[in-house]
Formats: sequence, C-alpha cells, structure tokens
Amino acid sequence: YLTLAIESSCDETSAAVLKDGREVLSNIISTQVEEHKKFGGVVPEVASRKHVENINMVIDEALEKANVTLDNIDHIGVTYGPGLVGALLVGLSTAKAMAYALDMPLVGVNHIEGHICANYIEHKDLKPPFMCLIVSGGHTHLAHVKDYGVYEMLGRTRDDAVGEAFDKVARAMGLGYPGGPIIDKLAKTGNCEAIKFPRVYLENGSYDFSLSGLKSAVLNYLNSQRQKGIEIVEEDVAASFQRAVLDVLVKKAIDGAVEKKLDTIVIAGGVAANSGLRHMLKEEGKKHNIKVLYPPLELCTDNAAMIGCAAYYNYKAGKISNMYLNAVPGLKLGSV
Ligand code: ATP
Ligand code: MG
Ligand code: FE
Repeated sequence: YLTLAIESSCDETSAAVLKDGREVLSNIISTQVEEHKKFGGVVPEVASRKHVENINMVIDEALEKANVTLDNIDHIGVTYGPGLVGALLVGLSTAKAMAYALDMPLVGVNHIEGHICANYIEHKDLKPPFMCLIVSGGHTHLAHVKDYGVYEMLGRTRDDAVGEAFDKVARAMGLGYPGGPIIDKLAKTGNCEAIKFPRVYLENGSYDFSLSGLKSAVLNYLNSQRQKGIEIVEEDVAASFQRAVLDVLVKKAIDGAVEKKLDTIVIAGGVAANSGLRHMLKEEGKKHNIKVLYPPLELCTDNAAMIGCAAYYNYKAGKISNMYLNAVPGLKLGSV
C-alpha cells in the first residue's frame, strides 16, 4: 500500500513515499533555513514563494528515489494545518490537483499528529496507548495517545512553545537561527547550575506549561550582565536555561505517565532532537520503569514521511478528505 505525502506548513518543502504507513521509501526535504536566516526567523511571504518554486521538484525526486510512478500510488496525504496559511496552501493545492487529476483519495493530515507519527516509523513495535510530549517550534503539549488518532490532552503551554523559547533566547544571545540546535550544543560544555533560572510548575497537579517567565529571566540576566560589563559565558547560560526547561518538561511527562499508568513516553516535534531532553527523560524513565522513545534526528523536524504515516492511519480509519479541504492555520490536535 503506497502513500505519497506532501508537507509545506512552515519552511520545509517535503515529499515522501511510504509503504504500508511505516516503511519510508523516500523522504525528500528542501529546507529554506538559509533564506530565513538573514531575518532571524521565518518570513511567511518568502516561505510561500520558495514552496512554489520547489514543490514539483521535491515530489518528482521523492517518486524517483522510491522507484515508483504516480500509477503505483494509492492515496495522497497532505498537511492542512497548523502552520502558515500561504505555506500550507502550496502543498494543499498541489495535493488536491494531483488527487483530482489522478482520481486518487486525498487525506488531510494534522501536522502535529505527523510529528507524533514520526515515532511509528522508527519504532516498528510502538502502538498506542502511550504518553506523548510534543515539543516543537510552535506547540507544546502533553497528550495521552489512547489509540491511533485518538488523543486526550493533559496539558499545553499557556504562552511560548518550547522551540520558540529556545529560538528567542538564542536570538537574544546573538547565536543565530534556528537557536535550538545551537543552544543544545553549547549546553553540553556549560555548567547547568551556574545561573539560577526559575522553574515554572504552575498549580499543583497542572500539566500546563509556561515559558515566558523563564525567557524573560534569561533576557534580564543578559541585559544586567551587559550593563555591568561582565562577560557572558554562553555555555553556562545555555546549559542553565536548557536545564530549567528540561526539569519541568521531564517532571510533567513522568507524572502524566505515572498517573495514567502508561509504560511508554514518546517525544515528538523539533525539540525531540534535543540531546539533553533525550538523555534526561530516558534516565528519569528508568527510575519509574517507563520506556522513553523518540524519532531519529532527521524525523524530528519537519518532513513529509511523518505526514505519510499519519495519512496512512487516517485512511485506515476512514478519515478521507474531499476537494473542499482548506488550510486551517490554527488547527488543533484532536479536531481532525
Ligand atoms: P510546529 O511543528 O509547532 O508547527 P515547526 O514545524 O516550525 O513548528 P519543528 O520543525 O517541529 O517546528 O521544530 C523546529 C523547532 O525545533 C525550532 O524551534 C528549533 O529551534 C527546535 N530544535 C531543533 N533542534 C533542536 C535541539 N537540538 N534542541 C532544541 N531545540 C531544537
Ligand atoms: Mg522548520
Ligand atoms: Fe513541525
């Protein structure tokens, strides 16, 4: 059973071919990072234009690398939200045109659901139920995955997403874009106890997150050091900031799994690439007999393979879209 998948929600144009949902035959990713670097973040208009320029090439390459033609494809999966509306529309219009012309089922996919599904590709035995910590550029959720496509949301961020906080802190330190991988690298050689940054746990028993206070604390620290003319040790700031984020993420993920009596925690989204998060959650999990899984690095950030996997499970559940499918920039998980 072959899926062709298309992803264009942010700044990666990607197409993939999958066999039976979990076997990746090709996963072509054209990233626009260099285009957006000079602006310190994604510029929506630039993203849309680049998607238009690249999408056909990326699809052709995905088919070629998988060694299949469009005649072999059984359905087309495409991200329809959440994301930048102009960016989403490029992938969505392409997928709709192909599905219509080839008379093929069209399957709309929630991008966040795609991030979760990246784990199914890597871990062939993984199946629901499990606890999922979703940490990406725009989202932070703790979700109980009860079945394929069935989610109980335990908590979400009340302000900044985790990836966003990494990017903003890195920007304030003048480290470049995207900041997550740079902070991760610096943190490895820094002292995580050098600077006391706040851990925000919110009300007792809450699984929500709040990162804006921590972000402000880091910015205030940088400003006051600069004013005093004291040299900033980047490694220590990175390590102390990262540790403050991870302490809260790890505690809430473990608490959630224990409360719901789940023996597996899965990490999803771009920040699942963070080496500190992977290590710390794995170690904490061991203490509670909880298995911790995450995707390989190339499947953590945006790619079409994860969208293809989600499309496969949607299709099997009868969740097929029609030609009226529109981009939904603020699409929520569970509102498919
Ligand atoms: P969303 O998925 O919420 O729509 P997005 O698609 O823009 O947002 P992703 O591609 O999932 O986001 O992830 C990108 C984010 O991951 C960026 O904020 C980036 O800084 C962060 N990131 C990537 N690698 C790491 C890392 N090693 N450590 C921390 N953060 C990282
Ligand atoms: Mg991106
Ligand atoms: Fe993403």
